[in-house]
Amino acid sequence: MSQLAVPALILVAAATVGAGATPHAVLLRTAQEPVPSSLNECPSATLPDGDVCVHLPSDTTSAPETPEVSNAHHDRAGKYVVYDQIPRRPDRPADYDAYEYPIPPGMPGGRHVMSGYDLDQPDSRQRRGRHLSHVGHGGVDLPQKMGTPIRAIALEHQEGPSEVLFIGWLFGKTVITRHSLREGDRSRDYVLLFGHLDAPADGLVVGQQLADGDPIGTVGNTSSVDFVHLHLEARRVRDDIDLKKLAPGLLIANEVSVVCDPRNVLPLKAR
Ligand SMILES: [Zn+2]
Repeated sequence: MSQLAVPALILVAAATVGAGATPHAVLLRTAQEPVPSSLNECPSATLPDGDVCVHLPSDTTSAPETPEVSNAHHDRAGKYVVYDQIPRRPDRPADYDAYEYPIPPGMPGGRHVMSGYDLDQPDSRQRRGRHLSHVGHGGVDLPQKMGTPIRAIALEHQEGPSEVLFIGWLFGKTVITRHSLREGDRSRDYVLLFGHLDAPADGLVVGQQLADGDPIGTVGNTSSVDFVHLHLEARRVRDDIDLKKLAPGLLIANEVSVVCDPRNVLPLKAR
């Protein structure tokens, strides 16, 4: 019998990763090519498996890292201030309505956001207050009726529950929660600030762990008498900061945490 029945091509690897991921490239090698015999003979990002090289699965547990960048503006006292901020990553939708929020939409057409993040913009394009005294906006303003319940929200790539870090007066009555997010190959702390509350939720205490949907408080107008809304702000905590040892007001200091476009961390709406 003939010995010519050797397949011209050998299917080497066609592994796929998690649902929705792109299938790995299929490696094709002719039977005549030498088969690698050691680690050194497999191309980078592959490993020998018996006598073939297989692609390593991509790391589906990591999320992109976003560096902070400097920007500057004239603050409310007219002083020129340089600050750090984390702009929206290009892979995140610009449309605010692509995201979930901790309160129902309060704008016509089922929209949430009246005023967005602008600390990535040049000074001249940042928000001005009526008396030109308030410059820039480090969060999103979500109008709603007085007393509307605000619910805890798990952020994109969050690991574990959220934790109540602060309840008190900062942006009017304010609650701050801490969230550990996977970023690159590590976990980083972010804080989410809920400002201008009518009141924090009954029984809410610092240190409490929160599941998605647990009550945070109610929408109000403290320190914002003319505008009932939720000010929602996300900040990434700098390395080597022990949040539990800080005076509450310092949580939002540039030296402690870097203000971040909330679209980087808010969960995308289910489609
Ligand atoms: Zn605001």
